[in-house]
Amino acid sequence: MKCPTCGQAEMISKTCDEMLSYGSQSLTLHSMHGEFCPVCNEGVWDEESYRRYTEAQAALVRAVKGDVGGEIRRIRKSLKLTQAQLADAFGVGKVAFSRYERGETRPPAPLVKLLKLLERHPDLLKEMRSM
Ligand SMILES: [Zn+2]
Repeated sequence: MKCPTCGQAEMISKTCDEMLSYGSQSLTLHSMHGEFCPVCNEGVWDEESYRRYTEAQAALVRAVKGDVGGEIRRIRKSLKLTQAQLADAFGVGKVAFSRYERGETRPPAPLVKLLKLLERHPDLLKEMRSM
């Protein structure tokens, strides 16, 4: 296959180590495999390598920024609410907390603070749900 970016050369299949870094953290993925252009260096990982790459990247972000999704899940469980019930109390979309907990979307900082307040004062939840 010719390089889709520059069109000047055949893509070459390559296995290599790839270093990822984020903030102060870094890690190396071994035996990553993909097709690369020897002229412009553009390339694509194969499916399995790409999956490892995205997972490692998410893990790095968690390591640097902290596991906010896990924190949200823990607080929600301590409040004995489902994701839908909590979303309803906050007046956000039903799937919002599912996305936050799985780390797909980073929750807004005020929401995280509010949740931490609720954890300390669960009695406020009733009031919040009636607003
Ligand atoms: Zn190229």
